[in-house]
Amino acid sequence: MAKDYYAVLGVSKNATPEEIKRAYRKLAQKYHPDVAKIDRKEAEEKFKDISEAYEVLMDPEKRRNYDTYGSEAVNFGGGGFDWSNFTHFQDISDIFSSFGFGGGGSIFDVFFGQQGQRRGTYPETGASLQYDLEITLEEVNSGSTRTLEIPRPVVCRECGGTGADGGKLDTCPTCGGKGQLTYRQNTLGGNFVTVRTCSTCGGRGKVIRSRCRYCNGTGRVQTVSRIEVAIPKGAEDGMRLRIPGAGEPGINGGPPGDLYVVLNVRKHSVFDREGENLFYTVEVPFTVAALGGEVDVPHLSGKARLQIPPGTQPGTGLKLAGLGLPRLNGRGNGDLFVTVKVRIPRKLTSEQKELLRKFDSIEEEKGKGFFSRLKNA
Ligand SMILES: [Zn+2]
Ligand SMILES: [Zn+2]
Repeated sequence: MAKDYYAVLGVSKNATPEEIKRAYRKLAQKYHPDVAKIDRKEAEEKFKDISEAYEVLMDPEKRRNYDTYGSEAVNFGGGGFDWSNFTHFQDISDIFSSFGFGGGGSIFDVFFGQQGQRRGTYPETGASLQYDLEITLEEVNSGSTRTLEIPRPVVCRECGGTGADGGKLDTCPTCGGKGQLTYRQNTLGGNFVTVRTCSTCGGRGKVIRSRCRYCNGTGRVQTVSRIEVAIPKGAEDGMRLRIPGAGEPGINGGPPGDLYVVLNVRKHSVFDREGENLFYTVEVPFTVAALGGEVDVPHLSGKARLQIPPGTQPGTGLKLAGLGLPRLNGRGNGDLFVTVKVRIPRKLTSEQKELLRKFDSIEEEKGKGFFSRLKNA
């Protein structure tokens, strides 16, 4: 049956490769069977059509044949279009394996970012993932262990990551398993041998005959991994903890990437923090500020008694040594700095007023009262 590849991608007959690429990206993102919001079978068909159209229209020779003779004339290397013949397939599976997690870039960056180059057969480290974790100041104080649920792809156990049903890969029929094709040219200047990577298998020498149905041929399955993270005492805001090997699985047998947990310390309702030191403001009655006394001051592990010296002025800073946060290097704690705020009563009883007037008249006699100060000013 003849197919209209241009209609499939929704581009015009004279679309540029750039336009085709863009249209393909958009549709592939929408209809990839792992993410499409329609029936899986339907999505697979749709995705196959899109990929087939892309495959043909991006290849100048195939596109010319198609424009002249129609889809029947396009050679897919035997027996029409087949997933196992689809050379871009491996790339797409690689792309979708990193879909939505980590990196932050578009899922197609890998594919198109390298000028459309196919991945090689050499082992590559898997992508690293980042996880932002909000923690409390209490956790910074005591240290803690958090269990994170990280959505990430892992190697499909059914096919061992090959993407082939039962893990069985077939020898590539085009290159006979060598991964390369050799061309000989006889010219007047002599015989030349050109070696090219086999496009059927992408240089792997193996092809997938039938796809693993657990991972849909991608070799990976999405899971949610539970990973324990130890939050060190004294952790700073923005600190990055590295969990080796907890990223995405490697490519072509390469090592897995790492997971980076970025700590965000939530602002505390009571304490301000600066490094290992904590800051707190305590309110004391003006009588305590004048006469001296003791007040309770909270810290992260309980409370402490703070001595207020007689004659303490508003805004005075007092230090409770060692009641700050633990130092990251494990050498003791920072301090708790307390700012004294003096509370002036808003309402006084007549008896209190009487006492304060009496107090003021004594101050007057000492030459320190309100009116004497006015006179001196
Ligand atoms: Zn091959
Ligand atoms: Zn599988």
